[in-house]
Amino acid sequence: MDKTDPYHDIRDAVRDLCTQFPDEYHRKVDAERGYPEAFVDALTQAGWLAALIPQEYGGSGLGLAEASVIMEEINRSGGNSGACHGQMYNMGTLLRHGSKAQKELYLPKIASGEWRLQSMGVTEPSTGTDTTKIKTTAVRRDGRYVVNGQKVWISRVQHSDFMILLARTTPLAEVTKKSEGMSIFMVDLRQAEKSGMTVRPIPNMVNHETNELFFENLEIPAQNLIGEEGKGFRYILDGLNAERMLIAAECIGDGYWFIDRVTRYVKDRVVFGRPTGQNQGVQFPIAESFIELEAANLMRWKACALFDAHQPCGAEANMAKYLAAKASWEAANVCLQMHGGFGFACEYDIERKFRETRLYQVAPISTNLILSHVAEHVLGLPRSF
Ligand SMILES: Cc1cc2nc3c(=O)[nH]c(=O)nc-3n(C[C@H](O)[C@H](O)[C@H](O)COP(=O)(O)OP(=O)(O)OC[C@H]3O[C@@H](n4cnc5c(N)ncnc54)[C@H](O)[C@@H]3O)c2cc1C
Repeated sequence: MDKTDPYHDIRDAVRDLCTQFPDEYHRKVDAERGYPEAFVDALTQAGWLAALIPQEYGGSGLGLAEASVIMEEINRSGGNSGACHGQMYNMGTLLRHGSKAQKELYLPKIASGEWRLQSMGVTEPSTGTDTTKIKTTAVRRDGRYVVNGQKVWISRVQHSDFMILLARTTPLAEVTKKSEGMSIFMVDLRQAEKSGMTVRPIPNMVNHETNELFFENLEIPAQNLIGEEGKGFRYILDGLNAERMLIAAECIGDGYWFIDRVTRYVKDRVVFGRPTGQNQGVQFPIAESFIELEAANLMRWKACALFDAHQPCGAEANMAKYLAAKASWEAANVCLQMHGGFGFACEYDIERKFRETRLYQVAPISTNLILSHVAEHVLGLPRSF
């Protein structure tokens, strides 16, 4: 462990915890399409998932850089932060835009682990990335909002107590800017399942618990509105920068995991009378992938530093996510390739991590949308949509 690393204490402690959950544990959970309940419980009990909650509400009040180290170390240890990262970025939305009463109600219980806030419902089947066209509506009626509509790919619903939901409160045709007229709500998931919300799990390539949600006259108390009515889209966007940086850190963790594994393997694997790693045809793609990972990591630190200093960081957050997702995917490819047939054997864990890291080119934001953000907002090119 590098003692000049300012975060070495956090790394040591998270790594220690992660060693109690070795490859066999994560492999078994993946094979069973289960949820790493014991792992997430241990992270919660140790306080790591409450890192961003201020101390006055029972958390440790750390910055995003520290939170990103926690996520990185989980992935670097062979685990998958996708099971629990939702709480980290959902927290920011509640912290920044929730009322004092909401923070006092939710945050201490989330910090203690009594409640989980792991879900965020934004994406819809018919609108995809074009979020301002969402069709789920929330209509105010007698001190309640009545929700109708549908969401897709909503993760961790079965392992969360609450979800932050984005819905239209003013029809698109009645707003001057398409980003206006949407609002966010805290939804008590167990209550909602009994009164208007149906959950349909979506089996998928990764062991990622994700679902389709159907709302039929689901009633949400008006006090569950977060912030001002009509400003929800902006609140969600605020939270996305933190999400991008945390995901970037997870990709960095994956990338180093792949590089560690492949480097170790090619030193030992002897073919044609010498280690495969003695061939430049094997060395160069590994070295290239390592260089790209290191470069992506620099952008991740830059983005985190800006965020923690409350500076604009949208471009850096997007670029960090783009570079890290690309670097981890390249590291995954080279690791699989240099393992030959063994890379496909589940007991090596490479195929599992390969599937897991592939997701980040698509979700939570696809690579094309990042390119479009940089083209338009950084380079000033004409708006394409
Ligand atoms: C495992 C998983 C978990 C998820 N969890 C959640 C969650 O918890 N909550 C939530 O709200 N959502 C979640 N999502 C949804 C995720 O954020 C979306 O899948 C993602 O944003 C892409 O949206 P889409 O699938 O509708 O793709 P589409 O919008 O249909 O896009 C498909 C492809 O076309 C490209 N494309 C679209 N428009 C353009 C354009 N104008 N220019 C260039 N390219 C374009 C995109 O880049 C993409 O590659 C999850 C998805 C997955 C797979």
